[in-house]
Amino acid sequence: MLSPIRLVSEAAELAARRHNGMARKGRGNEPYINHLAEVANLLATATGGADAELVAAGWLHDSIEDTDTTREELAQRFSERVAALVAECTDDMSLPKAERRRRQAMDAPKKSAGAKLIKIADKISNTAARIQTDLSAEEHDELVDYVEWATQVVAGCRGGNAWLDEKFDDAVKAARAVL
Ligand code: ZN
Repeated sequence: MLSPIRLVSEAAELAARRHNGMARKGRGNEPYINHLAEVANLLATATGGADAELVAAGWLHDSIEDTDTTREELAQRFSERVAALVAECTDDMSLPKAERRRRQAMDAPKKSAGAKLIKIADKISNTAARIQTDLSAEEHDELVDYVEWATQVVAGCRGGNAWLDEKFDDAVKAARAVL
């Protein structure tokens, strides 16, 4: 097992390489890695730096879904728990978007405590990225949709970390302020 610092550092590097060249949705087409860094840092802050595997999983949470990374590879390179956390945060991309979203909301309460924290951090990051003062009609509708769905998912994940719950509520308030 890697030391905590190596675990997080290796996870950040693998995430950077695997998501290389990808841009995230929302504000200014930021590099995808900005989203991963934000999620990992929210998790590190929320847990006072006590859970390196959770922070590593934060860096890697979209790697199975969006790149050719596999669960087995993550188990081998990091740990079974890191691999399991990322697998729990992976949507079945063979399903249409509406069905993936429906399942995320439905399955949220059944996730592990760690996966619930990753889900909330992901929704905080994605909500914040969609907030702009000069939204186009399309961006406006997308933000309305996203906030409604994210609120449902987070409702099934709450209670494990008061700080993260509050950060999500702040992000929703900030979104409503521009809608
Ligand atoms: Zn994500």
